[in-house]
Amino acid sequence: MSEQPWTVRRVLGWTAQHFEKLGLDSPRLTAEVLLAHVLRTSRVRLYTDLDRPLEAAELAAYRGLIALRATGEPTHYLTGTREFYGRPFTVDARVLVPRPETELLVEAVLQAIPRDTDVRLLDLCTGSGCVGITLALERPRARVLATDLSPGAAEVARANATTLGVADRFEVRVGDLFAPVEGEAPFDAVVANPPYVPRGEFPTLPAEVRREPAQALDGGPDGLEVVRRIAAAAPRWLLPGGLLALEIGDRQGPAVHSLLEAAGYASVHIERDLARHDRLALGTHPRGPAATHPGDGALGPDPR
Ligand code: GLN
Repeated sequence: MSEQPWTVRRVLGWTAQHFEKLGLDSPRLTAEVLLAHVLRTSRVRLYTDLDRPLEAAELAAYRGLIALRATGEPTHYLTGTREFYGRPFTVDARVLVPRPETELLVEAVLQAIPRDTDVRLLDLCTGSGCVGITLALERPRARVLATDLSPGAAEVARANATTLGVADRFEVRVGDLFAPVEGEAPFDAVVANPPYVPRGEFPTLPAEVRREPAQALDGGPDGLEVVRRIAAAAPRWLLPGGLLALEIGDRQGPAVHSLLEAAGYASVHIERDLARHDRLALGTHPRGPAATHPGDGALGPDPR
């Protein structure tokens, strides 16, 4: 090892190169996120202290994280947190790491929900709770019921709801899709980021995605098994005019568009993400009033 001290600058430069050689995504960003975590600071603050030498214990802790990241461990499992819609969510191997694309799902639902109305929302496959909790935070009069098949995910979602201060309006129940909802009144919107990866694509997924719960990704042979089940059952759980909003895979738009139309939804449309990939499928309850898009009266007047 050289005589030069391992400063923030030198450590970041070395790690970025190392990650790049390993073919990891966003090598520099990952180096910064991990180092900021070890030094209990922010990425931006690293840049105000580029010449600060790392202490032996810091260097050892950082080396440990680099080694784990190199084996494919997701960056945000290592830091234990991931930002979503501007707020920190606790994550671990029991849940899918929130993706930026999923913020579009939140946006689509927010567009359909007036700010000052009492609404009840159902969030299926909640995982970390990022979608349902964000909706509760952005719509202070909303009550959100969330379900997940995984008891571990439910625990993570509950902890996030408590930390982010919405535990009184965000309830998680463990069970398969709508099963834990029996006995509830219909909702103003049903929202889900279900598993939608076609099973055959698993071997091609990046190493870090394969470390995430398969249950959160596996959409069966064509990726649409869970989407189909949700689309078939949701009308029973939606108020007339209520919105169904689903995240979908980047080439699933045409298939999901047809399946929602066949299931009788109105105002069906597919939205793309910033990479111009199909990302959302939206439709309103079959018996609902006609609406041209979800911001245009899709929810209608509150019938209760
Ligand atoms: N978008 C996820 C991925 O990166 C898939 C998430 C899902 O199946 N809901 O693979």
